[in-house]
Amino acid sequence: VPVLSVRALTRHYTAGGGLVRALDGVSLDVAAGELVGIFGPSGSGKSTFLMLAGLLENPTSGDVWLAGERVSHAGADLDALRETRRKRIGFVFQKANLIPFLSAVENVALSLEIADVAPADARAHGRRLLAALDLAHRADSLPAKLSGGEQQRVAVARALANAPPLILADEPTAALDSVRGRQVMEIFRRIAAAHGTAVLVITHDPRSTDLFDRIVHFEDGRVCAGKAHP
Ligand code: ADP
Ligand code: ADP
Repeated sequence: VPVLSVRALTRHYTAGGGLVRALDGVSLDVAAGELVGIFGPSGSGKSTFLMLAGLLENPTSGDVWLAGERVSHAGADLDALRETRRKRIGFVFQKANLIPFLSAVENVALSLEIADVAPADARAHGRRLLAALDLAHRADSLPAKLSGGEQQRVAVARALANAPPLILADEPTAALDSVRGRQVMEIFRRIAAAHGTAVLVITHDPRSTDLFDRIVHFEDGRVCAGKAHP
């Protein structure tokens, strides 16, 4: 059973009196341990796809399944989706969006405390996660003291805190130089291989394509068949 299974997903928006087919019948499976890259021009529906697969909103039609359970469809209960999302999906965006007055480890621990882990345990686990991402020496630093690459690795640690079976990342390396961007992508590769996490990454960066198990191209709200390389 795939970790994530998306079936005939469409999302329409009404904007300026017209209808925008942001997503137009996308189907996609992601298996445990798979690192999948999503490429495609601006406006091709990548972010919309991530929002729907990430249960941040409902599709116009089609559905989203997690581990064989149908969780999202038109009109699905958004409060229930929020609960499922918290427990089962980790997100990384272009900006790390760390809480500025909390240290790196406190930022990571917060995700665990929200999930009812005791504060001392949450901090201990946060330190272990940061150490695994070569950030042990930065655990007590405030975000402003960290480089962009370090902040993004803290954001990855935060996404991993609750050991979600699925990680969704929207241009996680866009704000990083090539060395730091590569580092973040290698972390995703390692997480997928070591923990069987399914990882889906939207990216424009052709330099890390060797790390992906599979590349999916979006065009005009659809998966573009037969295009294997960016
Ligand atoms: P709605 O879609 O119901 O109008 P939203 O909060 O999703 O509400 O968006 C408000 C408006 O902002 C939209 O009508 C649209 O014009 C604009 N908008 C939001 N996000 C985007 C986007 N990614 N691309 C283009 N326009 C957008
Ligand atoms: P990408 O991530 O590939 O750049 P998006 O998913 O952001 O593409 O957008 C796909 C299409 O849907 C675009 O034409 C965009 O303007 C439109 N769109 C996205 N969100 C909204 C919104 N909230 N309201 C209106 N149009 C939107």
